[in-house]
Amino acid sequence: MSKEQIDNQAIQRLADGTVKQKNMLTGTEVWTVPGRGHRPLTVPTQSVEPIDPEKHGEYCAFCENRYLETPPEKARIVRHEDGSWQKLRGLSASELSETTAEFRRIPNLFEIVSYKYWHLNHGHVPSEAEHRRMAEYLASSEGYDHVMRVVKMRLMASGKTAEEVDAMDDSQLLPEASGFFSGGHDLIVAKNHYEPGGQSTAELASSGTLTPEEHYQYMKFTAEAMEDLYGLNENVRYVACFQNWLKPAGASFDHLHKQLVAIDAHSVQTDAELGRLRRDPEIYEKIMKVAVTRGLILAQNDHAVALSGIGHRYPSVAIWPLGPSYNPWEATEEQMRGVSDLVHAIHAATGRDVPCNEEWYHRPPDIASPMRWRLLIKWRISTLAGFEGGTRIYLNTIDPWGVRDRVLPELRRLRDEGKIADMRLGDECRISTDDLS
Ligand SMILES: [Zn+2]
Repeated sequence: MSKEQIDNQAIQRLADGTVKQKNMLTGTEVWTVPGRGHRPLTVPTQSVEPIDPEKHGEYCAFCENRYLETPPEKARIVRHEDGSWQKLRGLSASELSETTAEFRRIPNLFEIVSYKYWHLNHGHVPSEAEHRRMAEYLASSEGYDHVMRVVKMRLMASGKTAEEVDAMDDSQLLPEASGFFSGGHDLIVAKNHYEPGGQSTAELASSGTLTPEEHYQYMKFTAEAMEDLYGLNENVRYVACFQNWLKPAGASFDHLHKQLVAIDAHSVQTDAELGRLRRDPEIYEKIMKVAVTRGLILAQNDHAVALSGIGHRYPSVAIWPLGPSYNPWEATEEQMRGVSDLVHAIHAATGRDVPCNEEWYHRPPDIASPMRWRLLIKWRISTLAGFEGGTRIYLNTIDPWGVRDRVLPELRRLRDEGKIADMRLGDECRISTDDLS
């Protein structure tokens, strides 16, 4: 197949202006019809109110004065006065308020894949270390009260009445706590609910309002938690990692957080990609070539590149680490900083009012193929249903060039203002397929 044929198969503009895309990794077909892409990004209307400063630190259960409303923390990142960062693990309940966490790793109260799932289907039980940690945590009265309170909260949220929960004794309640110490669904929660100095409820702290250094710490901490979850049980085959930003993107709290979920299978997406990679070992180079020749490269530094995503249901930006493929937790400090700087910049350029998903794709460790770690930021703005159900062809309101034309000017402004790390933008980028080897 000639290069032009590959390009046209991936993305093609027809005579009337319709843009047809086909995702080379998933086969997803997406059309953008003319006349729809120039509308402003559809942002859900929500009432903007002044922030009540009295409530600082307790706007939601993820806020810093409400540490005891979430399950016992697994680890936290703190920043010292001299600017250095430190990871603290396994704090007791009474130690939680001795420092302020910049980022916390906590079990999700409502797991997608629960401890019970792992226990009943795979005979999963807490490791010796997890068992010890649980016993130590429960040994203090603060820790005991904390765990019991959260267990009861969860039981009531899942339909039990207060009377039913009160009637349960400790021997019935305690087993419910095992998942807090040996579960496979964790959250990485950022410190701030609103941007420091924010005046109104529109000024949420988002990925894009963090500093590049804070964003690096956030990503590194997430990657380390991901590696850790692979060690949860021998049947963990994939750890899904994502960030839902704002309710239309699936977030239950508008407090910045990422999620990590250990699962006992490869994802459908992973299997589809592995199949295509097996048939065409140069698939990534081909996608990169399409992005370069069609003018879809947005930003680049020494370790990563950001490009308008081709063939996605929602307008998307993809961030690809450069060089030989590696998994997130294998990144050197420079690599992680390079990737993080681009992810941060794209979030900042997208803007915090746009609901979005950040999805991480990586190689399952039990697979040898050189599947590449990549991140996708999807703008969850409205799409047109009905047509899609019947045809399996998706309509995306903004084509990849439209994404580029919205993101690039913002990236230039943010770079000029020093709000994102230094990087090459648009025409300044120099990418070739050799950059992937
Ligand atoms: Zn909050």
